[in-house]
Amino acid sequence: MTYECLHCKKEIKNLEKNFVRCPYCGFRALSKKRSPIAKEVKTN
Ligand SMILES: [Zn+2]
Repeated sequence: MTYECLHCKKEIKNLEKNFVRCPYCGFRALSKKRSPIAKEVKTN
């Protein structure tokens, strides 16, 4: 799972467990980022 810092907009790939914080600016609000190669899953 890749995260994106809401402050500096950098991608954070190596997040430690229970440590949700941007390693670049220290901001503590990150958003989950979908992988660019998202597969479409149809369940019908
Ligand atoms: Zn940041």
